[in-house]
Amino acid sequence: MRQVVIVTGASRGIGAATARLLGRQGADVVVNYTQAEAAAAAVVADIASAGGRAIAVRADMAEEADIVRMFAACDDAFGPLTGLVNNAGIGGQKHRVEETVLDDMMRLLRVNLGGVILCTREAVRRMSKRLGGNGGAIVNVSSIGAVTGSPNAWTDYAATKGGVDTLTIGVATETVGYGIRVNGVRPGLIDTDIHASSGMPDRVARFAAKMPMGRAAQPEEVAEAIAFLLSYKASYITGTIVDVAGGVR
Ligand code: NAP
Repeated sequence: MRQVVIVTGASRGIGAATARLLGRQGADVVVNYTQAEAAAAAVVADIASAGGRAIAVRADMAEEADIVRMFAACDDAFGPLTGLVNNAGIGGQKHRVEETVLDDMMRLLRVNLGGVILCTREAVRRMSKRLGGNGGAIVNVSSIGAVTGSPNAWTDYAATKGGVDTLTIGVATETVGYGIRVNGVRPGLIDTDIHASSGMPDRVARFAAKMPMGRAAQPEEVAEAIAFLLSYKASYITGTIVDVAGGVR
């Protein structure tokens, strides 16, 4: 059966690497983004030049109407959905807990957790064998921060990822009889733009050597784990969260 996958936040970083990999593997891919239209178009073009099919869909994961429209665009372009990668995420600004700003915290919750829940709802409505679908797989991109708590910097961000991990376990159990597998990955220090947009542009340079493996990872190294969990090769794996964190615990 042809694979039809939505990758949220696929214009840059881990999402872009995942979309490109899935496209090379023959999937039809929805490349979601919010701002970086040219970058999303470049991912679509790369997939097309590798012989695949992809469309870019602008949709803010904090907005329910955008999410519903994104899934409808996928239905129209490619037909039955087989996979969802809940990757879109923001780090928020580096701060200590006593400096928390309500609007910033709510934005984190809406994008990193609310968006994942609503996308999961839309995917399960389409994929559940109980609801007439053909089954499928969901991979949630969490963070090793869900385990460490990201103290002195991004505790609210880490808490949203803890929520993502809890959701992964709950929805995996809830949908296991409906032909849907739900898993997660917890990336460690990955060389993407998120560090600059979260107030620490030199984070990779400062901390890479302190990682257990003595380096940060490239987004493609996370994409490989995501693609595996999404694929038939992971057919007996559900409710599992894989650390892609180079030994950070
Ligand atoms: P990134 O390079 O900053 O890329 C973020 C992607 O998410 C972009 O495509 C961006 O779209 C999209 N995005 C942001 N807000 C969105 C929204 N409201 N709606 C839809 N799309 C949105 O980040 P990344 O490092 O690849 O991060 C990807 C995921 O991995 C995130 O969930 C992040 O928390 C997680 N993670 C990353 C690391 C790391 O070290 N990099 C570690 C642990 C976990 P635009 O380009 O249009 O802005």
